[in-house]
Amino acid sequence: MPSKTDRHTHDAIIVGAGFGGMGAAIALRRLGIDDLVILEREDDLGGTWHVNRYPGLAVDIPSATYSYSFEPNPSWSRLYAPGAELKAYCDHVATKYDLRKHMRFGVVVEGARWDEEKQHWIVNLHDGETLTAHYLLTATGFLSQPKMPEIPGIETFDGTVVHTTKWDHELDLTGRRAAVIGTGATAVQLIPEIAPKVAELTVFQRTAIWVTPKSDGPVPKALQTLYARAPITQRIARGIGSGILEVIMVAGVLKYRRFKAFNSMAERVAKKHMARQVRDPETRRKLTPDYSFGCKRPTFSNDYFPTFNQPHVHLETTPIARVEPDAIVTDHGVRHEIDTLVLATGFNLWDTNFPAIEVIGRDGRNLGKWWRENRFQAYEGITVPEFPNFFSLNSPYSYSGLSYFTTIESQMKHMTRLLKAMRRQGASQFEVTEEANAEFLARMKDNLDDSVFTLGSCSTARSYYFNQHGEATLLRPTSTLGAFREAARFPISDYALS
Ligand code: NAP
Repeated sequence: MPSKTDRHTHDAIIVGAGFGGMGAAIALRRLGIDDLVILEREDDLGGTWHVNRYPGLAVDIPSATYSYSFEPNPSWSRLYAPGAELKAYCDHVATKYDLRKHMRFGVVVEGARWDEEKQHWIVNLHDGETLTAHYLLTATGFLSQPKMPEIPGIETFDGTVVHTTKWDHELDLTGRRAAVIGTGATAVQLIPEIAPKVAELTVFQRTAIWVTPKSDGPVPKALQTLYARAPITQRIARGIGSGILEVIMVAGVLKYRRFKAFNSMAERVAKKHMARQVRDPETRRKLTPDYSFGCKRPTFSNDYFPTFNQPHVHLETTPIARVEPDAIVTDHGVRHEIDTLVLATGFNLWDTNFPAIEVIGRDGRNLGKWWRENRFQAYEGITVPEFPNFFSLNSPYSYSGLSYFTTIESQMKHMTRLLKAMRRQGASQFEVTEEANAEFLARMKDNLDDSVFTLGSCSTARSYYFNQHGEATLLRPTSTLGAFREAARFPISDYALS
């Protein structure tokens, strides 16, 4: 296709049409910034909730909390809504806030470069097209680059291979001899769903996961009606959900030094849950993590553990040596003959997702290269020195709390405060100062000293919270209230406005 250049400079280009990109678009439009283009590589909006369609997909944060606070949905069918309802909610938000007209689907962004002379961002698309904009926002998600395991011989497998992000709804698992590689939050939802269908199921676990009970259930019609008629009641439910998550996050993970007992209690709850649900002591031993609760994202389920009581479900913890056309062979030489291989192997964050596209700022600074050579960092988890007019929504230290909506909404606040200040000062360009960025990074590193990541026993967790240098630079080590407060009150002088 011949390369095209859109000569019009847009107000903003947002990369990603998931909840993060949509939240950013809503914040910009509220400020009257509405010449927006939202570029999405998939064929529809929704990010995670469009891509992930595996059996059992559901949110594992209470739905009243896992949604925009300004757009409550009284009709969630369960306390933890199934994936299809999340996708429908995304569609509803896009329609209500008139975002679809800004979206372009099936558009792969190659990279973006700040043009110092023209003072705008140049965004290059895979097909050679070029777009320009005053502001660039990347909302490419944390878990958006699927990880394919590098196992010798995997390419020689003759049967069906499916990654959980590419689920094929035509795939009939009835009577199959299947294997699942991976035991993260995705596998915990998927395994109980597919176990009843298959003839044999072997689960290959490299690292066990902490699983606590899930207090789920249908939301009664009467409660849905109450939420619709008196939205304050759903706000209260949201507040309770957020409070519980905050206690888990702050007391169990971030303030481990002070609340170690809370962390140990969470481990005891998970172990008791397993003891009640798994009959075989050897299986229980294998399913018990050997790292502190919170080093790796824990999950919630009532039907994962009992699956391992079924005679046709096997838990294999010996490392995989290789894959053959009809089997997985372990390091001990045991062959598990299979015809279907399910890869619940998660996502690659630190090699391919920070950032998910190439971003070149002032003086040719390459964001990914700079992060790798100078530590992963971003002021308030959203802006970076030498990258003018750029909001990096999925940055180191940006993920605040357990519900992604806490992150999204505090970032919306931060953007709004900054852009309003620019308007007041008649400025057209922002750039965070080196000093403010360095102070934030130093504070986050100090805060991490109190967390389970530093004080707990995390070396065997293989947690994606840690980057390739062994630093836990994904989660923001402050309370969510603290994150909101700072988003609303950060000193404007932390930015150079011009
Ligand atoms: P994940 O937590 O990264 O788990 C991937 C699993 O695959 C791990 O058990 C990993 O083992 C295993 N694995 C990867 N490569 C392997 C290899 N070469 N050999 C053997 N095992 C390998 O990914 P996920 O389960 O997709 O979950 C990612 C995140 O998505 C969750 O933490 C959560 O934040 C989110 N999620 C949320 C929901 C929800 O309901 N809201 C549902 C699902 C997922 P190691 O641990 O040993 O690396």
